[in-house]
Amino acid sequence: MAVDKTTILIVEDEAAIVELISFSLKDAGWNTVAVHSANDAWEFLQRRSPQLILLDWMLPDQSGLRLLSRIRADRQFNDIPIIMLTAKSMEEDKIAGLNNGADDYVTKPFSPRELLARVKALLRRRAPEHAQSVLNIGSVTLDPIGCKVMMDNQKIDIGHAEFKLLKFFMAHPERVFSRSQLLDKVWGDHVVIEERTVDVHVLRLRKALKEAEHLIKTVRSVGYMLSEK
Ligand code: CA
Repeated sequence: MAVDKTTILIVEDEAAIVELISFSLKDAGWNTVAVHSANDAWEFLQRRSPQLILLDWMLPDQSGLRLLSRIRADRQFNDIPIIMLTAKSMEEDKIAGLNNGADDYVTKPFSPRELLARVKALLRRRAPEHAQSVLNIGSVTLDPIGCKVMMDNQKIDIGHAEFKLLKFFMAHPERVFSRSQLLDKVWGDHVVIEERTVDVHVLRLRKALKEAEHLIKTVRSVGYMLSEK
């Protein structure tokens, strides 16, 4: 099953660091794209929205801090989680980064494990459906890296769209989402589909979940939610 993976954009001009970071992130189940300058990063953002950005402070064309401000000033990108990579350990620089909208920072040299932990923690906080952690609700377990759903330890058959929908619901249990929110969050904002398509996929998802279908609740005139209650 082809599953669109979470994309992490790496903005860093040092090849060795890019290689190290890409390797560990891919190993942990994310997709990575690396660019080497602020301009290339900006160009990339016009075409695709990454789910997280790792942004180096010192770039050849302009400072990472400047790019950070530019990203945060743009309504389209201002909620993308950003971690600054910095060789600077000066306290005021860290504060400048956080004041300009960075969610976190990692000081070089850092270990890949430390970086992974930060990425995971930030995604859990800001977009848990992208954190690539195994999700559990009742008898249902979803493994984002293995792209499979288990019920009472038996793998179930589930379509691509239903998998993404279930992953989103399981990452945000007990919260109601409207059809348009689900379209936006699960299918992405570049896709043109009708809201009733959501109903079709919810129906298929319930079917795939068999005896656990009650987990997906219809909230009349609002939308849907995943709830154990
Ligand atoms: Ca650099």
